[in-house]
Amino acid sequence: MEDIILLKLGELVLKGLNRRNFEQKLIGIVNRVLRPYGQFKVYSVQSTLYVEPLESGCDMDGALEALKKVFGIVSISRAAVCEKDKDAILETAKNYLSDALKSAGSFKVESKRADKSFPMTSIQLSQYVGGELHDAFPNLKVDVHHPELVVNVEVRDYAAYVHAGGMPGAGGLPVGSGGRAVTLLSGGIDSPVSTWMTARRGISVIPVHFFSFPYTSELAKQKVLDLAGILAPWCGRMMVEIVPFTHIQEEIHRNCPEEYFTLIMRRFMMRIAQRIADNNNCKAIITGENLGQVASQTMEALAVTEACTSVPVLRPLICMDKSEIISYARKIGTYETSVLPYEDCCTVFTPRHPRTKPKLENVVQAEAPLDIEALVSEACAGIERVKIL
Ligand code: ATP
Ligand code: MG
Repeated sequence: MEDIILLKLGELVLKGLNRRNFEQKLIGIVNRVLRPYGQFKVYSVQSTLYVEPLESGCDMDGALEALKKVFGIVSISRAAVCEKDKDAILETAKNYLSDALKSAGSFKVESKRADKSFPMTSIQLSQYVGGELHDAFPNLKVDVHHPELVVNVEVRDYAAYVHAGGMPGAGGLPVGSGGRAVTLLSGGIDSPVSTWMTARRGISVIPVHFFSFPYTSELAKQKVLDLAGILAPWCGRMMVEIVPFTHIQEEIHRNCPEEYFTLIMRRFMMRIAQRIADNNNCKAIITGENLGQVASQTMEALAVTEACTSVPVLRPLICMDKSEIISYARKIGTYETSVLPYEDCCTVFTPRHPRTKPKLENVVQAEAPLDIEALVSEACAGIERVKIL
């Protein structure tokens, strides 16, 4: 029996004239994601993507798992294909769903008829298939409100499809449909989540990591690359930009008042991120900042941090509780890596009494001894780029 995967598109069906572009983007992503699992044909009809295996050896389970991480899809169903005929549909349901039909206590049939030339209405088709299945499987009771099993029948343009309901997809919008952004990726719990959330809204991301070797170790850098690797099935292929940050931190330490170390450092991160954004046609800078989490994340501190950029700084986690962020990190699969104990921010550079309500003019004055332009250019010239597939 022929097996197919049906992908229901999410919000992108609302996008009017853009819809075709969104669909094309999504088809491109789905084709790329499926490549390791065999040859498939992917096409869209009426807000549904059809994924048809073109050879017998396709790894359908692997394909399903991979598709769960594609943004822009709200539900994923594995379905059997059959002729658009009531008895062919019935036989297909009996065979394809035989295990589920034998073990369920209650069921109902739900039919959809996109092909209006089909000779029965949806209700008639459900009644026919439901009645016959009821006779054939004595264990089954009909329960239209809370059935254990829903037998879905879809009569569409080219064929009919039978399946037992969909699994939830990743939701959101296809990556790349909303443009590009730079995302600041540390080795912590928060920034992989803010990166994931941004990709979920259709943004293609360029992760940037500030690396302070030897104050932070090669292992800390590897941890960030590992995190990017865990995010890649969701975010797509990425180029991580590793920015050498040691000289900047040493210069801040040597020349600036301790209470402003973190803020000045964060302003350097923003300036460098802005430069990377400008060079790559990115329209925003994303961070994992969160109100009140640390001294540099009060409203006053955030204002000082972003005052040196002209692109919007977006903070998807801004009002979330840590427990909510952690539950996302677990769901995405980054949590276990994020909590590995490699220091990301060296304590040498952390002030004992940071300013929590800084004034911009004081911070500007505190950083005045530094040759900001030269330090930013030097760091940008030393960027290492690592491809994540
Ligand atoms: P996370 O917030 O990811 O758990 P963290 O707690 O170490 O890591 P914070 O000090 O809270 O980071 O910094 C706030 C945000 O600034 C991070 O979420 C991240 O977006 C960015 N950031 C901090 N350190 C770095 C770094 N070394 N490289 C890139 N971005 C960083
Ligand atoms: Mg944090």
